[in-house]
Amino acid sequence: MLASSSLPLLPKDLASDCEVRWCPGCGDFSILAQMKKVLSVLGLPRERMVFVSGLGCAGRFPYYLNTYGFQTIHGRAVAVATGLKLARPELLVWVITGDGDGLSAGGNHLLHAMRRNVDIKVILINNEVLGRSKGQSSPTSRVGTRTKSNPLGTFDTPLRPLSVALAAEATFVARTVDVDIDHLGETLLRAARHRGAAFVEIYQNCNVFNPDVFAYASDKAVKFDNVVYVEHGKPMIFGKDRDRGVRLNGLTLEVVSRSQVASSELLLHDETLAEPILAHLLARMTYQPDDPTSMPEVMGVLRAVERPPHHDQVEAHQTGCDPSEVDLAAFYATGETWTYEENEPPGNQLP
Ligand code: SF4
Repeated sequence: MLASSSLPLLPKDLASDCEVRWCPGCGDFSILAQMKKVLSVLGLPRERMVFVSGLGCAGRFPYYLNTYGFQTIHGRAVAVATGLKLARPELLVWVITGDGDGLSAGGNHLLHAMRRNVDIKVILINNEVLGRSKGQSSPTSRVGTRTKSNPLGTFDTPLRPLSVALAAEATFVARTVDVDIDHLGETLLRAARHRGAAFVEIYQNCNVFNPDVFAYASDKAVKFDNVVYVEHGKPMIFGKDRDRGVRLNGLTLEVVSRSQVASSELLLHDETLAEPILAHLLARMTYQPDDPTSMPEVMGVLRAVERPPHHDQVEAHQTGCDPSEVDLAAFYATGETWTYEENEPPGNQLP
C-alpha cells in the first residue's frame, strides 16, 4: 500500500523510481511532466489517485507516477476504470490511452463510459500511428499515411476522436497539444475538476514513426494561422495577426477576414450548450495544407456540461428501488431464464 505523504505533493514527489523508457524526444515526456504539475495543484494524497492504461507507448504512464496504477490489456483500460470508479467513487481515476488502444479494441468501452458519464478522465494521446508495435496504421491515421501495415498509404477514413466522444454524449470534451505546456496543463486541470466523463485528445509527436504530423498545430512559426484557441464566451479569432475569425453560415462554419465583417458576426464560443451541435461542427474543423480556404483546428474545451455522474445515478437507482416491489419468484417462473451447465456440449446451453 502506498504511504501518505505530507501535502501538497510536489511534482517531484509524484515521480516513481522507474526509468522512463520512451524514445528521446517523444511527446509523452511533456505530457507526463504537465500531469505531475496538475496532480500537485489538485492537492490530493497519492493514494486517492489512480492511473489505468491499456497497451501502447501511453500504457507506460502508470509506471512513471508514484500513485496507484494498473496497466491492463489492449483496449480494456476504460472497462477497468469504470469498475474501479463504481467501487471506489472517492478516487480520482485517470485513463491514459492512445489512438490505437482507445479507438480500436477499446472503442466500444469508450463509447459506453461516455454515455454513462462515468467520472473518469480519459486522456487519449493521439499520434495517428501505433508506436509501441513499431509503426502500423491506427484508427486515426490520415488518408495516404504510409506505414508498415499500409506501405502504399492508408485509405480508410480516419476516426475523429472528439466527434466520437461527442457522439457518445461525453460531458467534457477538449483538445490540446503536447508541446503547448501551459494550454496542456490548463486542459488537464479542467478535466480533473470536471464531475463526470472527461475526454481530452492530445496531439502528440511520435518522432520515430510519424514525426511532425501535427507540426502545423504545434510549431510556433505557423500554428497561430492553423488553429483557433476557443474560450468560453469569447469570439473565435485566430491568425498570427488575429486577422481572421470563424462565422456560422447556415449549418456550416466559415473563415472570414476581420477587416470585412463586423465583430458581432463572429461566432461566440459557448461550451455549455446542452445540445452539442456546435461542438460537433467545431470538432470537424480540419486543417488542409496548401488550401487558402482551410479551416483552423480547434484547441480548448469544446463542451463542458453538467449531468449526474454514473456512480450517483447507480446510487440513486439503488436507493429508489424497493426490492419488495419486484416479484422475483414470478419473474423466474416465466421461463425467460436459463442455466448454463459447465460440461454441456456447445450449442446446447440456451433453452
Ligand atoms: S514509438 Fe513514438 S510514441 Fe512510442 S515512445 Fe517512441 S516516439 Fe514515443
